[in-house]
Parts: sequence; C-alpha cells; structure tokens
Amino acid sequence: MSAPADVSANLVAATDIHALARACVKCGLCLPHCPTYRISGNEADSPRGRIALAEALAAGIELGADATRHLDQCLSCGVCERVCPSSVRYLDLLVATRQRGRAAVAESWRRRALRSLVQHPQRFASLIGVARYLPGRLGRALRRSRRPGPVAACPVLADATVAPTAILLLSGCTGAALETSVLQAAQSLLTQAGYAVQVAPAQCCGALARHACAADAAAQSGQALLALVGQHQVGQHQVDACTAVVAGCAGRYRTLLAAAGLPGYRDVLCLLAERLERLRFGASSETVALQLPCTQVGDGAAINATRRLLAAVPGLRVVELPSQGRCCGGAGSWYLDHPELADALLQPALAELAMIAPSRLLSSNIGCRLRLATALDVPVQHPLQLLLEQCQP
Ligand code: SF4
Ligand code: SF4
Repeated sequence: MSAPADVSANLVAATDIHALARACVKCGLCLPHCPTYRISGNEADSPRGRIALAEALAAGIELGADATRHLDQCLSCGVCERVCPSSVRYLDLLVATRQRGRAAVAESWRRRALRSLVQHPQRFASLIGVARYLPGRLGRALRRSRRPGPVAACPVLADATVAPTAILLLSGCTGAALETSVLQAAQSLLTQAGYAVQVAPAQCCGALARHACAADAAAQSGQALLALVGQHQVGQHQVDACTAVVAGCAGRYRTLLAAAGLPGYRDVLCLLAERLERLRFGASSETVALQLPCTQVGDGAAINATRRLLAAVPGLRVVELPSQGRCCGGAGSWYLDHPELADALLQPALAELAMIAPSRLLSSNIGCRLRLATALDVPVQHPLQLLLEQCQP
C-alpha cells in the first residue's frame, strides 16, 4: 500500500491555485446547476465567480469580508465539478484557497463539534442515542432512523463452490449511529445477490474535516480508513471491492482507495443492479418519491442502478422529484452555519413533495434524509430499505 497521504494536505504544500483556476474557460455551463447561484443570481455566488475570487486571493489581492463570504457560502456540493466540460478541479481549488486564507473563513463551534464527533464514531453513536429523546422534529427524525439489532459481523457465502466477489461494506462515521438498518439492508441484499460481504467497523473518512480545511484531521482519518481496508479480508477471500451506504462520502472513498492502490470503491446500488436477475421482489401498490441527491449528479451509473432496482418492484410507482440533483441545503455540516440559505434551498423539494403526496420518500444520502425528515411526516428512507422489505427469497 502506498503512503496514504491526504489530498488536501498535499494541496497546501504544492498546489498552484492559478494553474487550477486556468482550467476554467469561463463558459458558464456550471452556473444553472449551482444551488447558491440559483438563489441569488449573483456571479460571486457561482463557481465561475468563486474561481475568480480564489485567483484574486492567490494573487495577494486584499478582498473584504463581503467577498470572502461568497467563498464561505459555497456548499462544497461539487455539482459544478461534475457538470464541468473542462474537468475543472473546483473542490481542490476551494479547499486550497480556504486553507491559505483560513482566518477569513469562520467555522462555528457547532461545525467544529460535529466534525470532531464524527472522527470518533462510538462517541457519535452515543450522542445520537441521547439526541433521539429530544423533543421536536430533530428528535423525531433521529428516532425514525433507528432500527433494532446489530449488524451481523460474519459474511454469509451464497455459493461455497464458486469464489464469490468479496465486498467490504464500509460503515462510515454514521453507520453505527444512524444507518444500522441501511447497513443491514445492504448486507442482506448483497448476500442474496451472491456477493460475500463483510461489514467493516465504523471509521470516519475525513470528508467533513477536509471541507472545513482541517487538513491534519482529514489526513489522520483518511490514513485510519486505509489501514482498516488494508487489514481486512472477507472470510478467506481478499477484498475485491469496497462499498458503502454513505453516499456523501463516495467521492472521498474513491480518491483515497485509488491513490493507495487498494480495492476500488463501487456504488452499492450498481453492485446490486449488476445482479438484478438474482433478486426477486414482491408487488407493491405504493407511490414513493425518489430524491436523487446532488452527490449523485454526474454519476449516471448510480442513478440508472437506482431506477432499475426500483422498477423491478412490480406495481411500485416511483415519482422523481423535479428538483433532482439540487442540493437540499444539508451539505455535510454547512447548514449549521447558514440556516437561512439552507432553508431556502430546501423549499423547492418540500413544495414538490406536497404535490406528489408519497407514502414515503427515498434518498441514498443520509444528510438529505435527516434534513428532509425534520420537515416531513412520511418516512424518509434509503432505497435499500424499501428493496429489502419487498425482497423475496
Ligand atoms: S468551472 Fe467549468 S463549467 Fe464552470 S465556467 Fe469554468 S469551465 Fe465552465
Ligand atoms: S460546490 Fe456547489 S455551491 Fe459551491 S460553487 Fe460548486 S455547485 Fe455552487
């Protein structure tokens, strides 16, 4: 395994912000996709505008607090990067810029506390356990995310005569606290589809820390994750691929695992869709709404896999939110520091859901699910949970 250096840590030492910015040809094709630009219509709140601000800062031009606020308000959702035809590495540019001018980017105690907590998944799980008893919508949303029972530790090999594809299912930082039932659904469905599955212990990948410019903490978490993957086997088998149910961390997993030469990251819904013929689902008469989170924008394979799997449930009516791919305002811990903007970003999805009146809402992103669950009365679940309910032996 090569040295698991963190991408953001490298950037502080070596990145030429101007070189990253020069990749932008200023075509503006990303602008209609940027959530903050869609709200304000202000060029400074767009990817192109922020790239220009980053260049100015790198050139040593003093920008006032008003200008740096536009950088601070970026959700780091990465939608612009995924739709950019020139492959501009916007997120690397943003992280490097924030690190260089960190004093200008305030991080509240709430974000620092959350970032610190997710680096210690057991403490995080304990705190979430207490928070479930809170009155109000947050407590209710957290109570709904809970399902009893631990995740099984031993893999079940579907066919002992054939070497199975061995999958290491990463729990992420929220797995033990918020996604036990989703992990169980993933493990059951993957096993039924013929994969050998091992659930890895909870481990933060450092994505939140990276977004908050805490390069050392991000690197530390990234190294711990790589060590965990490097040590694991699935039964007697070498790991063929890693997967996770924490959709928001997929990009980070891909980057870290590829850089370290470890088994690559595969989307869990893609793995299942590839073996759809091995899964059978019972009929349903439900109408469900499907939110394709902004973390899936540009990942056509994952989107198609989600659609194919849900279409395999006879009778199930799936209505996709027209505001697909637009950030709901969660964006990791960003909403904690920008509550008004975050609420404005949530409104289109809520209006659409009122029209659809689904029996439940499906989303593969835990941040979106928690955020939407605080504002809705219907269950908000991962698509895997519905698929497991309908799955027949
Ligand atoms: S970031 Fe990409 S899509 Fe946006 S203006 Fe620059 S080149 Fe165009
Ligand atoms: S990361 Fe998201 S919010 Fe930030 S500039 Fe890109 S699209 Fe806009």
